[in-house]
Amino acid sequence: MSDRQEIEDLIDLMARLPGLGPRSARRAVLHLIQKRTRLMQPLAAAMQQVADTARECVRCGNIGTGDLCDICADARRANGEICVVEDVSDLWAMERAGVFKGRYHVLGGTLSALDAIGPEELRIPMLVQRLVDENIREVILALGTTVDGQTTAHYISDEIAGRCDVSSL
Ligand code: ZN
Repeated sequence: MSDRQEIEDLIDLMARLPGLGPRSARRAVLHLIQKRTRLMQPLAAAMQQVADTARECVRCGNIGTGDLCDICADARRANGEICVVEDVSDLWAMERAGVFKGRYHVLGGTLSALDAIGPEELRIPMLVQRLVDENIREVILALGTTVDGQTTAHYISDEIAGRCDVSSL
């Protein structure tokens, strides 16, 4: 195994990142090596730190560094509204937009007959439990417009009908 092989291994790993193909991974690795002190070493340290500490919020499924994410730990976000999203990336996009002031619930996917994903595979039972625990009066469904997304939205609407208001984003 040559020294060069270690660099090739790094390029192969980088190429697995979303949005990066082999060519851009190669360019990124070269850039990192050329900026070793200012960029590559801090990046490696930051990646190790997050690899050690990142975990799923026990309540909503967001990614943070504690048992509860910052949003669930913030009492000001307990305004009786929960926004239901498919993935953490959707939650983060909504937070960046800064329009929603309540809390979130990450399903971790959508119902899919094809992939045999039922309500128990998602966090739907936990959502129903939260309606009671957190005195929720409105659920906002921010699910995709795909067939699976719409199926999931209908299923959740039926599950929680009569417990609180439901609307779609
Ligand atoms: Zn949370």
